[in-house]
Amino acid sequence: MHKVRVRFAPSPTGMMHLGNVRAALINYVFAEQKQGTFVLRIEDTDAQRMFDPQAQNIIEDLAWLGLSYDEGPHIGGPYAPYYQSERTHLYQQQQQALAEKNAIYRCFCTEQDLEKKRLRQQALKMPPRYDRTCMHLTPDEIDRLLSENTPFIWRFKCDHNLSVTITDLAHGAITFNMGNFSDFAITRQDGSFTFIFANFVDDLLMDITHIFRGEDHLSNTANQAALFHAVGAALPIYWHLPILCNIEGKKLSKRDFGFSLRDLKDAGFLPEAVANYVSIIGASFKEEIMPLNILAANFNFDNINASGRITYDIEKLKWVNKSWIVRYEPEKLTTQCRPYLEQAYSHAKNVDDKKLIQLLQIIKTDLTTTADAVSALEFYFVAPQLAAEDIQACIPEASQKSLLRVIEEHKNLLITNPTEFTPAVKLAAKNNNIPLKELFWFLRLALMGKTNGPGIAELVDMLGGAEALKRIEKMLQLVD
Ligand code: GLU
Repeated sequence: MHKVRVRFAPSPTGMMHLGNVRAALINYVFAEQKQGTFVLRIEDTDAQRMFDPQAQNIIEDLAWLGLSYDEGPHIGGPYAPYYQSERTHLYQQQQQALAEKNAIYRCFCTEQDLEKKRLRQQALKMPPRYDRTCMHLTPDEIDRLLSENTPFIWRFKCDHNLSVTITDLAHGAITFNMGNFSDFAITRQDGSFTFIFANFVDDLLMDITHIFRGEDHLSNTANQAALFHAVGAALPIYWHLPILCNIEGKKLSKRDFGFSLRDLKDAGFLPEAVANYVSIIGASFKEEIMPLNILAANFNFDNINASGRITYDIEKLKWVNKSWIVRYEPEKLTTQCRPYLEQAYSHAKNVDDKKLIQLLQIIKTDLTTTADAVSALEFYFVAPQLAAEDIQACIPEASQKSLLRVIEEHKNLLITNPTEFTPAVKLAAKNNNIPLKELFWFLRLALMGKTNGPGIAELVDMLGGAEALKRIEKMLQLVD
């Protein structure tokens, strides 16, 4: 058995979307599990779709997700180069070899010719297939057209009697009858190579053993399998990953929040949570929250659900993110939340890491994303603005006087011994028959502007005794 070699082969069209992320993850996890090699190859042959020079964004996104590759851009490897734009000579060699075998032919048809043929076939309800006009050109005709500099492309001669069978991890054997396929282009008129061909040559030359990619490539797979057959090479094993759908069952698109990885990054989703969620959708695990190394150990590639589509559910992703936030290392959580806080509150810069770690550990269970730290800690950075009505609305008139007295009597503890303040007012409230609930509401309202939130002792600890006293005194004045 050959050593497993898999690849993630994105086209640098500008952004990683969740379909790409899933393909990258599945390849990575498979390589980890099988102690194989994970290759990153950048498919940048289509100059018109190059919106991410050198695939810088993709490389950054993979690093963010923790998907390190064993061979690829910047780090190199035995099958370099890993940018298709630098591999033209290799495609030329393979094209030459196919030409010598008479497996490809030049096609001089213009776009207009082809369009006419298509329309005629449509009218006759025939499958839209290239009618092979140019396959029958004589050598003299070809020479003449070449001497006139007539533009042409190379087409692969599909053997219409051939059927090729691929192995797909989810679907088992899939047989393609090449009689249903057209003689496809392997070059463009400018001499550059098509996706189908370059992608095939690279998989062949890079000794790729398993190809895991989106289901949208299934028809390319038939053509590429025919190419493998034409050069007498063994076929890789495939897994065509089901299309990701939104909750309404429609193909996931730009309009769906979280389709682009950048959306999720900016909204405060943790890389571990995104990687975790995107790898578990469509499969079932007893314990769903796990880091990549455990995922790689647990992922069952022998029993893949062959369902046609899988659903991306943002609510589930939020749950996974929340679970990760709670179990994240305090220092790391702080690093992730800090930029949002600094952007929202100018003085957040002055809060050192030790203090911020303390604040976040207290409120972390309220966070769905790290960006939620902004609302969860608003009270810390901006003192609440309360009015007398806010107090009337939640503290019964009858308790107000005695509540006030109890707090007055103990408030100086906030300066002398802040940790004593809470137990002392609690005891005094009990002795005065003041419901504790009302005491807590009152103090929370004073300290954070709401009646529910962290415990009073925690709030005092977060704000510090002096600030807590200032806020409580402001509230006491409102009642007087
Ligand atoms: N460049 C192709 C894409 O981004 C690669 C498909 C494949 O993995 O073979 O869709």
